[in-house]
Amino acid sequence: MTRVAIVGIAGRMCGRIAHLVHEAEDLDLTGGVEFPGSDAIGKDLGELSGSERTGHHVVDNLETIVSATDAVVVFTAPPDPTVTAAEIAGAAGKPLIVGTTGMSPEQIEAMTSAVKNVPCVFAPNFSIGVTVLTKLIEDAARILGNDYDVEVVEAHHRYKQDAPSGTAYALAEAAARGLERDLNAVGVYGRHGDTGARSQAEIGVHALRAGDIVGEHTVMFGGIGETVQIAHRAQSRDTFAVGVVRSIRWASEADAGMYNMRDVLGIS
Ligand code: NAD
Repeated sequence: MTRVAIVGIAGRMCGRIAHLVHEAEDLDLTGGVEFPGSDAIGKDLGELSGSERTGHHVVDNLETIVSATDAVVVFTAPPDPTVTAAEIAGAAGKPLIVGTTGMSPEQIEAMTSAVKNVPCVFAPNFSIGVTVLTKLIEDAARILGNDYDVEVVEAHHRYKQDAPSGTAYALAEAAARGLERDLNAVGVYGRHGDTGARSQAEIGVHALRAGDIVGEHTVMFGGIGETVQIAHRAQSRDTFAVGVVRSIRWASEADAGMYNMRDVLGIS
């Protein structure tokens, strides 16, 4: 039985992850962490995620429960507690699964160095469909080539804190890889005003925010006389939670290192 602790346990994503972990026969939901002062502190982990009681309660510091844990899952907003959780899990030698987006390059570097001695799966999108999509986009971009303009459009719920989504970045990066371009040099994030004609090399990325949209991503390849669109729509957060459960099992057997969902699916 793999004992799992979840940091950000009262959040939208972690609630679904907690539910699926609790239901899995080979996983045991034994730990949950929230920020000091959260209303969730002291609540039963099962009750919090709409399942049966577990007898384990939400705490305000991963350090107090990490030794009784076999894998740590972290999805927080804001991102800074994710770095702290990585430091604690890394020091304790526990596998880590991180889904937090909107991290700065410095935060990602701090997290990466904290987990260098443990397996860590870090993905902006744990959906199996989106992971396959990034591979399709890279291949499509390579085959279609420079005659097709690439634009990425994403839509999310009104509460999302960061834009564009981590997945939109990952899809734009996949297209850039296929076209052998540097996204830092060719990424254009939204357009407004007297922009002039589109350059051939640019990759446009656009973010919509409305209602309770779970997550929609479309990559458009615009050519002369035709448009190719490859899209993914998440109907519920369970698409991510299913990928997280799969990653927990995979990371529990993996050697130390930084991995993504392509590694978990064996399509890297
Ligand atoms: P949310 O706001 O519902 O949940 C975030 C949780 O983090 C909250 O419960 C909050 O209290 C908690 N938190 C804040 N500070 C904390 C601390 N010091 N210690 C412990 N917990 C703390 O947000 P959400 O929609 O669940 O999204 C969380 C993150 O996951 C975001 O970055 C989001 O973009 C990302 N996300 C990733 C994927 C993926 O597949 N990788 C999918 C959906 C969302």
